[in-house]
Formats: sequence, structure tokens, C-alpha cells
Amino acid sequence: MSTAMTPDPAAAEQVRADDRDHVFHSWSAQAHVDSLPVAGGSGSYFWDYDGNRYLDFASQLVNLNLGHGHPKLVAAIQEQAARLATIAPAMGSDVRGEAARLIAERSPGDLDRVFFTNGGAEANEHAIRMARLQTGRPVVLSAYRSYHGASGGAIALTGDPRRWENESTGQAVAHFFGPYPYRSAFHADSPEQESERALQHLRDVVQLQGPQTIAAIIQESVVGTNGILVPPPGYVQGVRELCDEYGILLIADEVMAGFGRCGEWFAIDHWGVTPDLITFAKGINSGYVPLGGVIMGPRTTERFAERSYPGGLTYSGHPLACAAAVASIHAFEDENILERTRKLGETVVEPRLQELKDKHASVGDVRGLGMFWAIELVKNKETREPLVPFNASGAAAAPMGAFAAACKQSGLWPFVNMNRTHVVPPLTISEDELSTGLDIIDAALDVADEHT
Ligand code: PLP
Repeated sequence: MSTAMTPDPAAAEQVRADDRDHVFHSWSAQAHVDSLPVAGGSGSYFWDYDGNRYLDFASQLVNLNLGHGHPKLVAAIQEQAARLATIAPAMGSDVRGEAARLIAERSPGDLDRVFFTNGGAEANEHAIRMARLQTGRPVVLSAYRSYHGASGGAIALTGDPRRWENESTGQAVAHFFGPYPYRSAFHADSPEQESERALQHLRDVVQLQGPQTIAAIIQESVVGTNGILVPPPGYVQGVRELCDEYGILLIADEVMAGFGRCGEWFAIDHWGVTPDLITFAKGINSGYVPLGGVIMGPRTTERFAERSYPGGLTYSGHPLACAAAVASIHAFEDENILERTRKLGETVVEPRLQELKDKHASVGDVRGLGMFWAIELVKNKETREPLVPFNASGAAAAPMGAFAAACKQSGLWPFVNMNRTHVVPPLTISEDELSTGLDIIDAALDVADEHT
């Protein structure tokens, strides 16, 4: 077994060769894959077989909320594996039921029942199927600058054309612009105006589309991958009211923003709004075993009280995943994770990012909440021209590549997307580790400044 900082060149070469020659990689041209040969991880760090150790400022794919190797999660998975590793969804399982109850007890309003999936895309697939069946309407509205997953229905919802390639998804989906005060589609000059205009735009889209055709509006409660866009005041409440006016269901995609990332169980708790359906995954058990799901209330379950829900998954509510979820929810409470996430966000991350904005020519905007922050890089602060063009790849994206390389050389694994870096470390990160990471980002921004 490899331990931190022990180079093992033979193992490194074997991992690289198998990965390159036999693994088909997500979101990649297969000929150019050169993955890091990862050996292990502990807490906020992971390390590779070459002997490099990285502070995980990306929490892998923003799922590792309790860090690597959390002893309570590891023990729960081991115990469950020894007792009962798998059980069909139609059978009662103590650990599945307990996970569902703990999730329901922490969900907003009257949401009290969970359909388990294996991840976020599947959760969104089932949420839109449920919404279409419940309302008898075909269309789902989703926002541009959203990410909802990469399976057929979820990729159609995803409002990010970089993710599509001349595909026909056969899905009845229409897109709208959500609020983004720094790059307002509505030429608003305050967050309040952005909120008002975004709501008017959404109302226009609903009316043009025909409200009687719309099953649901799905949105990330705080947009994640596409920029950490925190909704301005009144927006979430306004969407809820619009949905109620037209009998449209509101689906909150909490796959990335939920389970503590924003300092609450669900990001939407910040606005006191109860959606009709919540989708979750990632942070529910820090991704130790794949798990996601749809949380619903009586209005949805009534629809399926006498008529079967025509959907299911062999691994729905897998015991190992549910055991990790139960342990994770207990660990959140034992370790005061929600409170410390809010506190570290407010007292460490936010002031430090504001400093970086003042200091660096390349930092145009910083925004976020909890442990969910973005630094948006620009060529010019006045014009807000992005440091790399949106949709850039190859040489055009070079400044962000140079920024990422500088971070990695200093032992930090960054989350980089388009002209942004996101500060999304494990919620268990210590204050010292957090400051170390922010120092590394500060130094790497000098590299970005050279391109302004
Ligand atoms: N929804 C959101 C908001 C996400 O961020 C993601 C993944 O990043 C997904 C859905 C898809 O989740 P998964 O990759 O588990 O299918």
C-alpha cells in the first residue's frame, strides 16, 4: 500500500498505461489523456505514485464534502459490506429506510420521501419523468449556464452548449437566462434589478411556450459548474410564485450545492423556499459509494399511490451507499459541519477573495457562499472581457492552463473551468489548510495577471 509522498515509479507507469490504453475517459479526446496516477488520500489531501501530494481545493468533483478517508464513513461501509452488501430495491432494508428518514427530516417543507438513484444525472432523469407524469405536460424549462448531468434527458436540460455535439436528444426542453449580475443578460445594474428582470424574462418564456405545456422548471439552487451564481434577492421566491401561478413544478437541483456545500443542508434553505422535487447526489455521502436521489412530497406520491411509478434501478438505495449516507449525516452533526462551513466562508474565504480582487489585475469578480466560491478572471476589469474566450480550448485557453499548472506545482489541486477557478475544498478543511490553499491561489494569480 502506498503512503503519502512515497514514490513508486513502477506503479505510476502501470496506472498510466492501463488508464491510457483501457479506460474510456469522460469529456476527453482519448488520444490526449494523461491522468494523474493517484495512490491515496487522507483528509484534505491526496497523493500520487510519483510522490506528489495535493491539497484538494476541488473536493474531486465537488463531492468530497467530508474529505478523503473519513473514519466514520469507512467503518460504516466496511460493517455494512460484511453484514449485507446488496439487497433488491423491492425489499425492506434497515439502512435504506434510515437514510431516507434522515434525509426527509432535513428536507424543507413537506418533502418526506426519497427515491434513490446512483448519481445526479439519474436523479434529474427521474425528477423530470415524475414531473411529466404528475402534470401530464411535456416541456421542462432549464437555464442556460446550467449543468444537470450527461445522460439523455439530463444533457438536454444542461444549458451549456459546450457539452453537446450535434445531438438530438428528443427531449421537450426550452432554455431561459437565469440571473448573473456580473454579466447580466438583462443589462441590470443592481442585484435587485437583475432579480426583477430575470423573473420577467422567465415569465415571458413561460407565456410564449404556453404554461399549459410546462411540467417543470428545473434549476440549480446555486449554479455550480457554470460559475457559482448565487441568486439575487427575491429571485428564488419569485420563481416559486410563478410556478404556483401556472401549476408548474419546481425542481431544485441540489446535486452540487446541497448537503452542506452552501452551509445549509440544502442551498435553497437560504431563501426559505420549498420546491416540489429536490435532486441530490455528491455530498450526501462524499461520493464514497455512488448515491443520488429525488426527494418529493405528498403531491407527487399521491399521483403514484394507486398507479405504479414506471421506473426503477437495480441499485436504488444500495446498502453500502446508504450506510455511508447515514454515517455522513451523523458526522455532519457531530462535527458541526454546517456551522463551520458558514463561518469559514464568511470569516476566511470571503474576505481573502475580496483582497485578491483588489490586488490582482486579472480578478474581475469573486462570489459565493459557504464553501462554494468562484474567482472570475478577466483580461480587463473595465470591459470584463474574460481572460480566455468562453468555449476556448487549446492555445486559446493557455492562461488558465498556466494558472492551473502554477497551483499544481505548489501542491494545490484547483477546480478550473473556462475563465474561472472555484474555491470548493472539503468542508472539513482546517483553517490552516484553507489559508495555505488561498496563499497558493494568490501566488498563481500573478501568472494570470501577466495575461491582462
Ligand atoms: N446536477 C448538478 C448541479 C451537477 O453539478 C452534476 C454534476 O456535476 C450533476 C447534476 C450530474 O451528476 P452526476 O455526475 O452524478 O451524474
